[in-house]
Amino acid sequence: MTDHAPVAARLASLAEADPRNEVCGFVAVGAGGELEVVPVRNVAGQGGQAFEADPAAHLALSRRLRREGGRIVAVFHSHVDGPARLSAADLAGAVLGNGPALPGADQIVVGLESGKVKEIRVFRWTGSDFAPVADL
Ligand SMILES: [Zn+2]
Repeated sequence: MTDHAPVAARLASLAEADPRNEVCGFVAVGAGGELEVVPVRNVAGQGGQAFEADPAAHLALSRRLRREGGRIVAVFHSHVDGPARLSAADLAGAVLGNGPALPGADQIVVGLESGKVKEIRVFRWTGSDFAPVADL
């Protein structure tokens, strides 16, 4: 990803607008290199404690990006009251077999404390695990 500041600001405003629920979605890069934050519905059914990006929205986004020449570069979600770390459940969702469930996509966690964003951390697949690579 290139210029992170607008992405970080958008992620922070999405998370703080719904501080009692884990918000989630994708960061995509377009054919021209522009970044786009695409929030999607959290269908986990226990919004404050888990996330699962709406599969139909994921599919629709993938199709649009394929048509336009873009791709998903990250999956994001927030933690209602917790650090920007990948939980065991997050890893279970992000890893499929011995590889990332969504190859080429980073995992971004937005950590909130008392309804305010405290940290936004990017995790990248290293070949065997997701490791933190940057703070936004
Ligand atoms: Zn999580």
